[in-house]
Amino acid sequence: MRAARGSGSEPGPRHEHRYLVALGSNRRLPGIGGPRAVLDAAVAALSESGWRVVAVARLVASAPIGPSLRRYANGAVLIAGDRDPRATLRDLQRIETAFGRRRRGQQWRSRTLDLDIVLWSGGAWHGPHLTIPHPLFRDRDFVLRPAAQIAPHWRDPVTGRTLRQLAARHGRQS
Ligand code: ADP
Ligand code: MG
Repeated sequence: MRAARGSGSEPGPRHEHRYLVALGSNRRLPGIGGPRAVLDAAVAALSESGWRVVAVARLVASAPIGPSLRRYANGAVLIAGDRDPRATLRDLQRIETAFGRRRRGQQWRSRTLDLDIVLWSGGAWHGPHLTIPHPLFRDRDFVLRPAAQIAPHWRDPVTGRTLRQLAARHGRQS
């Protein structure tokens, strides 16, 4: 697949929005495989649910956060489609559920699949269950590195910095 060289947010066909989605998994899924296979299958599921997959980042491994022991696989995907942010979040949550994730219990416990909206082409969005840009993405190397790989020139509407700049800054601090 061709990598997107541009900002990631340039306009496509009318009514087409772009979303930069962060993917994470730290569990095996029977019939699919380990965390990396889960993320590959999640990208396929996005495509099957009608999204145009514009670019997929190389997956990265990161240390577990909190009490779960297994390492995470993380990635980022740039998708395009006509769904607004609310419909997009519902779609991502439906895919998480299809991969066996339950929404009850401890926040950081081991999870099959996490799909977060990092940025979208419409700028900032604040709703009762959804904030874009994702509030924590600037602090997470495992989000910034894959995101900067596929959309280096996309600007965070809050800080005005590009993903490449944010990733470089973060890399120096940690
Ligand atoms: P986290 O991703 O923070 O580890 P969850 O995946 O359980 O935790 O998400 C908790 C809630 O975060 C979701 O139910 C969703 O409503 C909310 N949320 C707020 N902003 C976003 C976003 N940009 N992308 C995904 N979920 C979001
Ligand atoms: Mg999430």
